Amino acid sequence: MNKFAKLDQRFVWHPFTQMRDWLRREPIVIASGKGAVLRDVRGKEYLDANSSIWTNLHGHQHPKINAALTRQLKKISHSSALGLANEPASLLAAKLIGLANHIYDSRSTIDAPHGQTARKSHIVNRKLAKVFFSDDGSTALEVALKLAYEYTRRTRGPRTKPRFLSLAGAYHGDTIGAVSLGHIDLFHKAYGGMLFATDQVMAPYCYRCPFNRARPERADARKYRKCNWECVGLVEKKFATQKKKGNPYAGFVFEPLMQGAAGMIPQPSGWLTQVTDIARASGALLIADEVMTGFGRTGITCHVDNKTISSIAKNPAATKLFATQRVGVTPDFLCVAKGLTGGYLPMAATLTTQKVFDAFLGEYEEFKTFFHGHSFTGNQLGAAAARASLDILQTKTSILQRAKLQKHLHDELQTLWALPHVGDIRQVGLVAGVELVKDWRTREPFALRARAGLRVCAAMARRGVLTRPVGNVIVLMPPYCTTAKQLKKMVAALAEGVREVSASS
Ligand code: PMP
Repeated sequence: MNKFAKLDQRFVWHPFTQMRDWLRREPIVIASGKGAVLRDVRGKEYLDANSSIWTNLHGHQHPKINAALTRQLKKISHSSALGLANEPASLLAAKLIGLANHIYDSRSTIDAPHGQTARKSHIVNRKLAKVFFSDDGSTALEVALKLAYEYTRRTRGPRTKPRFLSLAGAYHGDTIGAVSLGHIDLFHKAYGGMLFATDQVMAPYCYRCPFNRARPERADARKYRKCNWECVGLVEKKFATQKKKGNPYAGFVFEPLMQGAAGMIPQPSGWLTQVTDIARASGALLIADEVMTGFGRTGITCHVDNKTISSIAKNPAATKLFATQRVGVTPDFLCVAKGLTGGYLPMAATLTTQKVFDAFLGEYEEFKTFFHGHSFTGNQLGAAAARASLDILQTKTSILQRAKLQKHLHDELQTLWALPHVGDIRQVGLVAGVELVKDWRTREPFALRARAGLRVCAAMARRGVLTRPVGNVIVLMPPYCTTAKQLKKMVAALAEGVREVSASS
């Protein structure tokens, strides 16, 4: 066994991993990476088909990010944000605010999925104005949660007990606050005693929606669903019931356009605008978790074809980096992490409005300060990488690359419908979830002990493609630099993996 593999097995405890299984076989030890390729200590190459758990944007060893980090290293790696400002963090904050508000400042048409018109009414006076830095997706959510909690108490009165609503199956991170906001039964069973109560409402999981009367088809379930928007009705009911109790929801927490760890669950066109309208009307703050969806992941427009690509080539400035911008929803909190640094370093940010910020202003002895912060808040290396990554994202080359990749992903995914164990293929921009089922005609899921998702991913790894499943949903989230040939290989490995597992099930 390789010496690092031995050391790992002796000393390292891996996240979300049954370590008994881990210790049974030699792990892949990654030694280097370039572009979309990871190389292990034995020299075997793999395609990074989930962008190193949804973090990497432009590929590994991007020359511009490497150069920005080297330049920053020659100045300083870290000084505290407690009592001190620094150059890269201040520049990054200004840039993030500019980008997050970009679409609301510009006169360009807002593209909502499937040609709906996004409402500009949302835009009035709700600009994001301040950035609170932290370290990870969980901490970005934790910051939003605490700010929303305290803001609500300050505006509604100190006796208020702010309550939050989020989506069924949601995952917002691992810290106690973030787990409380999430609704994954397994984690709630494990840590229930430590969590605080939040409410959940049905997420629009069209493929498995009890209100969807359509029989399964060989197409994305959002397209052929037959329903009366009962899921939106349930959201409406939830807000109304809570209002009747005299304590309207303080905040509505959601991943816009697609829920990630819940199983790559995409929202049908129109859902997000309807539910955020309801939340707004009820006085709730909107907390958008764009930890996965941010920085271009949800694509350029809803559907990319050759015409879109040529129009983008003419006007790349009209593209949006956040899913909420795509739909024209302006949140009170925008939480970002993962791709913020291009996937180089742990750094996160919670963007919020002037109104929220002002509620924390006061005399020193009033203790209105936001009492929260971490040692590495506003880290210079992270901020330097993030600035370089944002610069790359705004280049015409990157925008066109993303548009083409979105189209290639769409085209390649269509080949998977031929597999009887593929039940649903869900693509939002540069993210795809392929749900495996025992029988596509009945949507019958595989039994848990069949470990279908894990086995397909293991089969893909043997073919040189790395990803991790969410249950029986195989995730494809290629780095933006992935070539058409590499993408073909990713999807082909997935197909072969499914065939291999089907043959042995
Ligand atoms: N929110 C979302 C939507 C996520 O996908 C994740 C991580 N998968 C988190 C929050 C938590 O982020 P982190 O693991 O960086 O704490």
